Amino acid sequence: MSTVIDAAPRTTLEVAGTTDRFPVARIYCVGRNYAEHAREMGHDPDREPPFFFMKPADAILPSGEDFPYPVASSNVHHEIELVVALGKGGKDIPEADAMDHIYGYGVGIDMTRRDLQGEAKKMGRPWDTGKAFDHSAPCTKIHAVSDIGHPDGSAAIWLEIDGETKQKSELDKLIWSIPEVISYLSGLFELQPGDLIYTGTPAGVGAVQRGNAIRGGVDGVDILETKVV
Ligand code: MN
Repeated sequence: MSTVIDAAPRTTLEVAGTTDRFPVARIYCVGRNYAEHAREMGHDPDREPPFFFMKPADAILPSGEDFPYPVASSNVHHEIELVVALGKGGKDIPEADAMDHIYGYGVGIDMTRRDLQGEAKKMGRPWDTGKAFDHSAPCTKIHAVSDIGHPDGSAAIWLEIDGETKQKSELDKLIWSIPEVISYLSGLFELQPGDLIYTGTPAGVGAVQRGNAIRGGVDGVDILETKVV
């Protein structure tokens, strides 16, 4: 098939331990999925359940590459997150079957232009300018479930800047568990193989500055590294 213009290449991520690539379809992100983070953002997690927003697939920045400080913002925040990579799609997926849809896991950062997001919240506007900008989705290689299994609930999720810990929690503090997220999302969208889900960030989000070395990880999955330039 010929196309009238050159199509942009599809975003892919390395699959750890192989020469194969994971083709990224869509990027779903869960908002306020750790109670302490919901509180630090001024919300009551007992009254407001988590929710979803999206980033474009080509917002992916592979771990190890520099993160270019984005235009139009002077308050860019880090949000370390466990990333679920779907191997199978579907709609109305029951929670009991949800884990079978996972190909693997990665570690990502939901980079956020907090000033633009704050303006959007105030005006009742969409979050895209705050959340869905270029390079806003750093991510490690994908690690297959067949290789690492599913991460333990007790696994630590953490982020440090220039060696200083900024975020630290455990995966079992997620308000919506991974199967709940997949099942709920699949009731709103027909999920596709290749979809990524950024599952939410724990407390301790804050601003990054040019020159910062950022390291973040989920124990048992991987460590993400990027430098802000
Ligand atoms: Mn987030």
